[in-house]
Amino acid sequence: WKGTKIGPPGSGKGTQSPIIKDEYCLCHLATGDMLRAAVAAKTPLGIMAKEAMDKGELVSDDLVVGIIDEALKKPSCQKGFILDGFPRTVVQAQKLDEMLEKHGAKVDKVLNFAIDDAILEERITGRWIHPSSGRSYHTKFAPPKVPGVDDVTGEPLIQRKDDNAAVLKSRLEAFHKQTEPVIDYYTKKSIVANLHAEKPPKDVTAEVQKVLS
Ligand code: ADP
Ligand code: ADP
Ligand code: ADP
Repeated sequence: WKGTKIGPPGSGKGTQSPIIKDEYCLCHLATGDMLRAAVAAKTPLGIMAKEAMDKGELVSDDLVVGIIDEALKKPSCQKGFILDGFPRTVVQAQKLDEMLEKHGAKVDKVLNFAIDDAILEERITGRWIHPSSGRSYHTKFAPPKVPGVDDVTGEPLIQRKDDNAAVLKSRLEAFHKQTEPVIDYYTKKSIVANLHAEKPPKDVTAEVQKVLS
């Protein structure tokens, strides 16, 4: 099973990861998490990506396509994978198809986290994450057992630098302009499942399970 989650920032893609990972495949790749790790480690990739990320703009196609191309070679990604936050441009979608074609594979399913922009500011400004795992919490909608602390590891949670109203505005602009055409690209291939991402997390999980079963 090979697929991807597409949706605007805060639509709940990361929140639905554990269930998809545990029930349907071994390999989960979130380009945002990978880029943030590279920025934190100050690798050449991180240094190149940081400026665009801080502004809420997309990192160049070449950089992210390179990361995905490398990551998909891992043994754990051979049978199936679920991507989060990639592809975000039509060029990235075309490159992904080319990578998979070499192995006689293709994207089977696209989960479209459809949601109204108006809901996203509250979700984004209340988000707290556990950087090393990518787990996300919300002060109001999904509070951790102890404020500021990851339930699983006991490590501190942080707020992302780009999770504020001003940068969200740029990220949403990038989504509508550059990523929505990707949904059209996959709709033409009849592999898009539209989810009601404004519903509570459990309801979204049920929709995901229905699509993937
Ligand atoms: P994305 O990965 O799409 O950017 P997240 O999964 O990190 O989004 O969710 C954004 C924020 O909204 C997080 O703080 C998360 O806890 C919260 N959240 C996720 N799904 C829902 C939902 N269905 N209802 C309410 N809040 C949610
Ligand atoms: P969110 O969870 O809020 O949807 P992500 O964590 O996926 O956001 O991405 C954070 C930032 O990383 C983006 O604003 C962008 O700068 C960069 N990024 C992540 N994935 C991609 C991609 N596929 N193409 C270009 N830039 C990306
Ligand atoms: P508050 O006064 O906002 O309730 P607390 O004193 O309860 O804050 O929490 C201490 C720290 O943890 C603060 O930095 C706060 O922003 C943060 N925090 C509060 N609630 C949460 C939550 N649900 N998830 C992550 N961090 C939180």
